[in-house]
Amino acid sequence: MTSTETISTETTSPCEAPIQTGDLLLSIEDLHAGVGESEILRGVSLQIRAGEIHALMGRNGSGKSTLSKVIAGHPAYTVTAGTIHYRGQNLLELSPEERACSGVFLGFQYPVEIPGVSNLEFLRVSCNARRQHQGQEELDTFTFEDHVRDTMAIVQMDPAFLERSVNEGFSGGEKKRNEILQMALLEPLVAILDETDSGLDIDALRIVANGVKRLARPTTATLLITHYQRLLDAITPDFVHVMAEGRILRTGNKDLAMALEQRGYDWIDETDETDEGETPQP
Ligand code: ADP
Ligand code: MG
Repeated sequence: MTSTETISTETTSPCEAPIQTGDLLLSIEDLHAGVGESEILRGVSLQIRAGEIHALMGRNGSGKSTLSKVIAGHPAYTVTAGTIHYRGQNLLELSPEERACSGVFLGFQYPVEIPGVSNLEFLRVSCNARRQHQGQEELDTFTFEDHVRDTMAIVQMDPAFLERSVNEGFSGGEKKRNEILQMALLEPLVAILDETDSGLDIDALRIVANGVKRLARPTTATLLITHYQRLLDAITPDFVHVMAEGRILRTGNKDLAMALEQRGYDWIDETDETDEGETPQP
């Protein structure tokens, strides 16, 4: 097989209803979560529908990565109140592996290095776990290798990275491309990319942005956590949310991101009024 499309275009398990644009994929209601005694998320509500691209912005320490890790099921965080539903199912009941297999993907802000585990093998095992969950046949080593090489072209990654240990010695930009490669192979329904743009030079940013755009479908949704307007110049978000102190303080459209770029986050703290590009939270 020579193209990614010939292997799989299915994004749902045969036993699940097909997804339509506009279907509610992820619904977070009044989520509180933290580590030990300290509360980090203090009532996050967010709804993400198929076909939407959301941007999540906010100062360092406002809780963006914590929110993404709680969605992915990171064991360091305890949910103390509120709910997360994924396609109507209680996501909090699923293990991190089940979440990943059922189509929730998190591209980490700081991708981990796994010395001794080949990148090719890691990608093959995770891709096959997801395929199995979708009721698709597993790919053997040779078929997968063709598939992964085709997919690497999307992020302009050298196939030599397949032979290396996962992320070991990869530069910041290479790690981020490897995250996008994983995303492309897993074909998630909800992709959360935590500052995938930070630390990238202009060329790498363009490659990552093109990869994200190319992979977004009317039946999938993307949550981009970013500080920078430059990513949002390449990928126009439908909604922009601003997080502060563990809550989403504002929701608007792309103009809100532009206003933040020009006026900084202080302006958000100082004004309560509806302003640039702001829309009521759904
Ligand atoms: P952001 O991604 O918006 O920069 P984070 O979610 O990383 O913010 O962090 C929010 C706050 O929670 C910070 O004060 C951070 O120190 C704290 N925090 C996050 N993860 C942990 C953890 N595992 N243990 C203790 N504190 C944490
Ligand atoms: Mg973060």
